[in-house]
Amino acid sequence: MREKRVISGGYNGSVSHDIHCIDQGCYVVDGHCIRTVHAEANALLQCAKFGVETDGADIYVTHFPCLPCTKLLIQSGIHKLYYLKDYRNHPYAIELLERAGVETEKITVPTDFFKQIESVYADTPYD
Ligand SMILES: [Zn+2]
Ligand SMILES: [Zn+2]
Repeated sequence: MREKRVISGGYNGSVSHDIHCIDQGCYVVDGHCIRTVHAEANALLQCAKFGVETDGADIYVTHFPCLPCTKLLIQSGIHKLYYLKDYRNHPYAIELLERAGVETEKITVPTDFFKQIESVYADTPYD
């Protein structure tokens, strides 16, 4: 998000033109799937691809980012990180964010939030 506009989005997925884990299963090496690009990286790379500035932007993620993604976010000039769930929060990632002055905020949504969205869409006439 920059100046209250959504500039990019991303989710965990395979590299463009590769097969998808959901079709062929994960490509696991040392206990990790090596096929996927993380949502954070995908969001940043989409900005790079289309020439959208990330400096000073805020990012909303579902899970606290992994260490490599944390580095990418800092280097991209992300100003604030909003996240929904703690996920193996790496102490070094937390330290790097603090040192870089990136604010982090854990946010919550009401438990029935997604149900509410569903009902909004269910009531919306599309045609
Ligand atoms: Zn996979
Ligand atoms: Zn990651």
